[in-house]
Amino acid sequence: MQANRAQAIPQNPPPAEADPILGILRVLREGERFLVCSHSRPDGDAVGSMLAMGMLLRQMGKRADLVTADRIPAVYRTLPQADAIRTAMRVHGPYDAAILLECDGLERTRLLGLEPFFAINMDHHLSGTPWGQVNWIDRNASSAGEMVYRLVQAAGGTVTSEMATCIYTTVLTDTGGFCYGSTRASTFQLARELVEAGADPIRIAQDVYFSTPAAKLLLLGAALGNLHREGRLAWLWVTDEDMQRTGAAEEDCEGIVNYALSIAGVEAAVFLRELPEGRMRVSLRSKGQVNVAAIAGSLDGGGHENAAGCTLDGPLASAVDAILNVMRKCLAAPNGSRR
Ligand code: 5GP
Ligand code: MN
Repeated sequence: MQANRAQAIPQNPPPAEADPILGILRVLREGERFLVCSHSRPDGDAVGSMLAMGMLLRQMGKRADLVTADRIPAVYRTLPQADAIRTAMRVHGPYDAAILLECDGLERTRLLGLEPFFAINMDHHLSGTPWGQVNWIDRNASSAGEMVYRLVQAAGGTVTSEMATCIYTTVLTDTGGFCYGSTRASTFQLARELVEAGADPIRIAQDVYFSTPAAKLLLLGAALGNLHREGRLAWLWVTDEDMQRTGAAEEDCEGIVNYALSIAGVEAAVFLRELPEGRMRVSLRSKGQVNVAAIAGSLDGGGHENAAGCTLDGPLASAVDAILNVMRKCLAAPNGSRR
């Protein structure tokens, strides 16, 4: 079936399956062409889960187009079949369904033209809601990649070594190298299964953590020059001028916030990046006492308890004030802001 199923949505919604995995498999088996997308500014989980999903679809004899709004960060371009991901502003085609991985709505992709498609929503974020035609939200999953792994198993597919490499990368990066609260005994079981299926944990760690472009270290130097600490809170920032001067790319900001969080006695950290148009991208991290997903959510962002983000109006000084005020209140509250 090649028809765009847009028109079928209102008249003929699929029966709500008790097990969302079965609901997704049914759509995958019935269709022929699929679009696979994830959020803008893709991270390791976005890239790895898209690639693994594409591999599963092709294994099932289906066609899959993998599309993101922003280019793939250099450290993930060595992943198997990474070339299959196309960067575009708008999507169109006769897709039977669009599979959206870890997006809390179509807008999160920053892709235009998704509205007509039958949407399969697969998310593991705390902020996930059932906005699609079929929804599978598993807040216990370490990564969207882990969910793709469960889907491969449910489909009776083979976890190839290329698939295992992509999924292992999603688990490694989304647990912050097995450090965040999402790390459970089952996460190591999954990692073990992936290594047994052919993922090379040493090579993947080297590709992800020991392949830093020099410009990123220059940017880190600038950020550390702006490092501040107040009790259990630490923050740092880079200006757009820092970005230009060091020649750093947007993706080079990933991980900088962790240097603030790594300070002994610090519970929560904030990293701000000035955007060329003057707004501020904010990354929030917590060691566990503060639920930064709730804080980001209250500012129109989202994410996980330990890692979340949002965008604030500039200038830098007022964005710093705004986010620090919220963070200070949460840190002062009994039990942080956990709820
Ligand atoms: P980062 O700080 O690395 O940009 O994002 C950390 C986590 O928060 C990621 O899981 C990311 O998907 C999520 N996140 C960051 N910014 C936003 C946002 O503006 N909206 C939502 N919903 N999630 C975000
Ligand atoms: Mn994720």
